[in-house]
Amino acid sequence: MTESANPFARLPSVDSLLVQPEIASLKQRYGHTAVVASLRHRLAALREALSSQPDLECDLGKLISDCSQHLANQFKPSLQPLFNLTGTVLHTNLGRAWLAEEAVQAVLAVLASPCNLEYDLETARRGDRDDHIDGLVRELTGAEAATVVNNNAAAVFLLLNSLAIRKEVIVSRGELIEIGGAFRIPDIMSRAGAKLREVGTTNRTHLKDYTEAISPRTALIMKVHRSNYAIEGFTASVAEEKLAELAHEKALPFVEDLGSGTLIDLSAYGLPKEPTPQQALAKGTDLVSFSGDKLLGGPQVGILVGRKALIAKLKRNPLKRALRVDKMTLAALEATLSLYRSPELLARQLPTLRLLTRTQEDIQGLGQRILPTVQSTLNDHAEVSIASCRSQIGSGSLPVDLLPSACLVIVPKAKAKGKSLNRLANAFRDLPIPVIGRLEDGALRFDLRCLEDETSFVDQLKALIP
Ligand SMILES: *Cc1c(COP(=O)(O)O)cnc(C)c1O
Repeated sequence: MTESANPFARLPSVDSLLVQPEIASLKQRYGHTAVVASLRHRLAALREALSSQPDLECDLGKLISDCSQHLANQFKPSLQPLFNLTGTVLHTNLGRAWLAEEAVQAVLAVLASPCNLEYDLETARRGDRDDHIDGLVRELTGAEAATVVNNNAAAVFLLLNSLAIRKEVIVSRGELIEIGGAFRIPDIMSRAGAKLREVGTTNRTHLKDYTEAISPRTALIMKVHRSNYAIEGFTASVAEEKLAELAHEKALPFVEDLGSGTLIDLSAYGLPKEPTPQQALAKGTDLVSFSGDKLLGGPQVGILVGRKALIAKLKRNPLKRALRVDKMTLAALEATLSLYRSPELLARQLPTLRLLTRTQEDIQGLGQRILPTVQSTLNDHAEVSIASCRSQIGSGSLPVDLLPSACLVIVPKAKAKGKSLNRLANAFRDLPIPVIGRLEDGALRFDLRCLEDETSFVDQLKALIP
């Protein structure tokens, strides 16, 4: 058979490729199995191409570089760091809080060796994983007891399932919220086996609404932090003290889902005030739940604090076992909580607070430093300038509480602006550390509040293909 009669004869064999020095080095890195699979994949694609274009040249160098590229893509992790320049500091889709260095080190320390997760080193007996944070949480919140589960949604679920199964929970209609990502109070309630007893109206709920709803079927009175929405104008809600008093008169627990739940007075940092679990407990709330990765600035967890007997009931529920957190999470949480023992260092050590308290002046200064490089990178493609803007706290904080910030405004020069805007946004997302901004008013905007690693940001612009 002549060559042109059988174009496939020109394809190299896998065995002949495996002895090429470049392939040998890929084998060192990725192993024999992955390299052979990748080569077969490339060769199959070439065979297919040859069947429609028999004159196609088989370039060995290209085949090897394709294979190398394919393996690099295949081995690249799906979950990766990025620059969140969206202007929302605690962005749920972008992983919420970044951990403090102390928390990162604490996770690393327990990762690659055994640890005393459920082992009491003093008595050599079986321990409880909650013990690693119990003391710290009690110290910081003044609670009698604490427990930790996978996230605040799980905390609310465990609370309802442990204390209100087949019974009624009284909640104001003004608090039947949905938080992004399908967390809806009525749905969680029914899945937990509890019956929602709505009282009041959307804008006004009075103490007598609660009083009249109490019956032998009642298990709890519950308050839910409205988080990301506000009711203004003709409104009324009942203070925690009053609800606690009413509940206790009827021998019922009063519980509160605080949502974000910071442990400090944020107004001392010039930020909008948020209720704290210690305040809720001081007002007579028996059980409070809050998130670990919102304003607290730690790992994803739900923390429950309150009366010892109630926490004990939660811990006896078999679902606690299904909702428990792992050692990495506990290590990160313990280290994060520990930072709260040094409040004067917190704004420096805790990234969430550091980013939220960053001044507009500081952010503008950063903008001035990086502007020339961004301008020269995009020279032929876009105009780049610095503008004032406002960042959002995110994750259940009010979207109207905005923090003065500065952003890069990138406007494409091309005529087909919409198309080139998307192309620019894609180019920034394609960088080794993807850069995520916001498209607004015909511009790509990068709020610089959450840019700390300036050097990496600027260095990787070399790789931008606008
Ligand atoms: C955010 C929030 C939740 C859900 O917390 P996750 O930690 O995201 O599970 C529940 N309730 C309220 C009021 C919230 O703000």
